[in-house]
Amino acid sequence: MTIPHFKRILLKLSGEVLMGQQQFGIDPGTVDRVAGEIAAAKQAGHELCVVVGGGNIFRGLAGAAKGFDRTSADYMGMLATVMNAIAVQNALEKMGVETRVQSAIPMASVCEPYIRRRAIRHMEKGRIVIFAAGTGNPFFTTDTAAALRAAEMNCDALFKGTSVDGVYTADPKKVAGATRYESLGFDQVLADNLKVMDAAAVALCRENNIPIVVFNIRDEGNMARVMRGEGTATIVHTLTEN
Ligand code: UDP
Repeated sequence: MTIPHFKRILLKLSGEVLMGQQQFGIDPGTVDRVAGEIAAAKQAGHELCVVVGGGNIFRGLAGAAKGFDRTSADYMGMLATVMNAIAVQNALEKMGVETRVQSAIPMASVCEPYIRRRAIRHMEKGRIVIFAAGTGNPFFTTDTAAALRAAEMNCDALFKGTSVDGVYTADPKKVAGATRYESLGFDQVLADNLKVMDAAAVALCRENNIPIVVFNIRDEGNMARVMRGEGTATIVHTLTEN
């Protein structure tokens, strides 16, 4: 199935995308490359907003496993996403792309607070809005934040950039012969517990009828191809009955 053309897109970038070949942290070269692809998508006429993860720096669950209180660890994870958001903003602005970072946890001297109507206005003016600090609440993930912001910003689709080129029947790194879906329904993702995004994020997209496009963002140029309907990806959407 070819991916349809979507005008307004929310792009979810996992933190691990920003670490490049490193095991941890932010790789400036990779951030520049990803920013270049975002700039190209804007140039191609898409309206874009971005939700960044923080897993390259700190994950709440991992922190809790090491003895941190879960809510404190989750706040640390949310702060990590703010660092990533600033890195992506910096890379985009070096390329002359106007951006705004909005954080779900207000941080007046660092970025704007999240204000939905203001974010919409920025996008109408051609700015790329980067949403930081997830939902602002512990016990959530940036996948859920991405689904929430996609619904709030009236996005036509949620693009999830990861290190695999779609959704597979089983983990292709572990199971030989696992095959990639071209397209599948929200219900199947939830029933089969397929690892696309967490269940809360998938349910939110299903309720609001926002297709999720899963693609490999490490493959240079792939994002533009997928947005043109040519690249390799899996689309999760509401299946219409024949
Ligand atoms: N987080 C949170 N609430 C949110 C979003 C994120 O508490 O709404 C915390 C959580 O601890 C998570 C961390 O921030 O582990 C980093 O986000 P995530 O793991 O979703 O990043 P990604 O996997 O996309 O890099």
